[in-house]
Amino acid sequence: MDSIAENLAFIKDQIASACLRAGRRTEEVCLIAVSKTKSPSAIREAWDAGQRTFGESYVQEFLDKLEDPQLNGLPIDWHFIGHLQSNKVRQVAGKVAMIHGIDKASTVEELSKRAVQHDIVMDYLLEVNVSRESSKYGLDPASLMPTAEACFPLPNVRLRGLMTIASPDPLQARREFAELRECLDRLRSNAPDPSLLNELSMGMSQDFEEAVMEGATLIRIGTAIFGWR
Ligand SMILES: *Cc1c(COP(=O)(O)O)cnc(C)c1O
Repeated sequence: MDSIAENLAFIKDQIASACLRAGRRTEEVCLIAVSKTKSPSAIREAWDAGQRTFGESYVQEFLDKLEDPQLNGLPIDWHFIGHLQSNKVRQVAGKVAMIHGIDKASTVEELSKRAVQHDIVMDYLLEVNVSRESSKYGLDPASLMPTAEACFPLPNVRLRGLMTIASPDPLQARREFAELRECLDRLRSNAPDPSLLNELSMGMSQDFEEAVMEGATLIRIGTAIFGWR
């Protein structure tokens, strides 16, 4: 196993060449280092190698890491990428730059309530189950529009785009990423402020190159940086 710094350098190279092939600028793609189940010292190592954006999936683990002496005070750009239920919203609101894993209007209502209380604005993505695997979280593509329409008027929250976890097969994954992009295009044409809707959170260790080809702006990579969980 190479060091975290070496893995990061390798991944960034691969992202850059995928961008080149896709005719995109490297700056259009933000790498989120997914550090769930990994130790604060591993996160620190990635930070020391220049990584600033990290993704966590479990609320309690994330809160513990915020308090950890090795990370305390570091201006990390945290993203919450796990499935977020409304009863956990309170614990995450105000502590992350963006929440990716929301698939219910009621969760966004709760987020809006907390954001108003704290006098902050929270950015979030809606998770869409484009692979249509019943075991997965995420909105059915058909219910995306009505859900988004229920969320648009809510104060202090901004829908910034869509997130998905694709099927294991890379060819299938690429079709699903394309579908997520089409979902975002449709959403934009119906949104009160289309300029806010520009994030596609898609692509993981196995399929981030396909995701970059289809327009990913946020890619979430764990294993290829930190090793197996
Ligand atoms: C764990 C996780 C990832 C990272 O997956 P890897 O295959 O380890 O890169 C990305 N997104 C979500 C939502 C995850 O839970």
